[in-house]
Amino acid sequence: MLSTRPTPAERFDIDTTLRTLYDTLKDLDAGNVASYIPELAKACPDWFGITLCSPEGEIFEIGDARQQFTIQSISKPLVYGQALDAYGRAFVASRVGVEPTGDAFHSIISLDEKSKRPHNPMVNAGAIAMTSLIQGATASERLSRLLDTFQRYVGHPVAVDMPTYTSERSTGHRNRAIAHLMLNFGMIEGSVEEQLDLYFQQCAVLVDCRDLAVIAATLANRGINPLTGDRAVHEEHVRDLLSVMFTCGLYDYAGEWAYEVGFPAKSGVGGGILAVVPNRWGIGVFSPRLDARGNSVRGIEVCKALSRQWRLHLFDAPSP
Ligand code: GLU
Repeated sequence: MLSTRPTPAERFDIDTTLRTLYDTLKDLDAGNVASYIPELAKACPDWFGITLCSPEGEIFEIGDARQQFTIQSISKPLVYGQALDAYGRAFVASRVGVEPTGDAFHSIISLDEKSKRPHNPMVNAGAIAMTSLIQGATASERLSRLLDTFQRYVGHPVAVDMPTYTSERSTGHRNRAIAHLMLNFGMIEGSVEEQLDLYFQQCAVLVDCRDLAVIAATLANRGINPLTGDRAVHEEHVRDLLSVMFTCGLYDYAGEWAYEVGFPAKSGVGGGILAVVPNRWGIGVFSPRLDARGNSVRGIEVCKALSRQWRLHLFDAPSP
């Protein structure tokens, strides 16, 4: 139904679709705001925003699309891409696999002891391994490198939300356990606390729904930010990012997501979902009520509805 350069009539249809979806889903109150990171519990459960960005940079949005929240696990594919760009596929493959685990994001057991690498970069173990590869002589140089990469994706400077960072830092004992286990297996090197600090900061970067849609549109546009023209990730690695997002992006819901929705995505416990329809759309949804697996309830419904209505599933037969 959609071209990426919408005509005025198509634009009207897109706005109407978003308005209808928003009105239908805004009263859906299933799920709970994440509270295992105490600062996240302060989110208003009713916040709800949807943004679409085309690979040409055309933006459609509704609701709380400019409300900031922390990126959390949606940072993981970006840091995976940064590692691929810095070290190349072969080295990165020696540090992290690409196998879905079907486990929850914070699973402690998802370490492949035989291959000495975590199963994939979308679960916390693999993500921490990727963060540990961010280069720099000092902690602040490494953080700057990380923020520069995020900035290329969103098209403006980004910052770490200090309250969320310190909140996770003082309570993130499960991640601490995962990191120590990885140090024991030789999967990461250096100071565990320094690696975790950087990981917690990466998760606490502030974004809004529009940022998510622009990041997604950058990936839908082969790695070039459609608003700035800047390259955020090498073209040959976009395929790698999207592949792991497609198979591992929604934790233990990843299989059902691929089946029902059918395009790559990544969720975060801050309530965001970023979804990529290659060459067609970057989608950002924000609603902090999460289901038991840590995925935004309304976010999933929005993507399901768009997929169905606009036939966006990658394996949909072409429209008659
Ligand atoms: N910072 C969170 C954690 O490591 C990210 C989890 C998520 O968004 O799924 O627990």
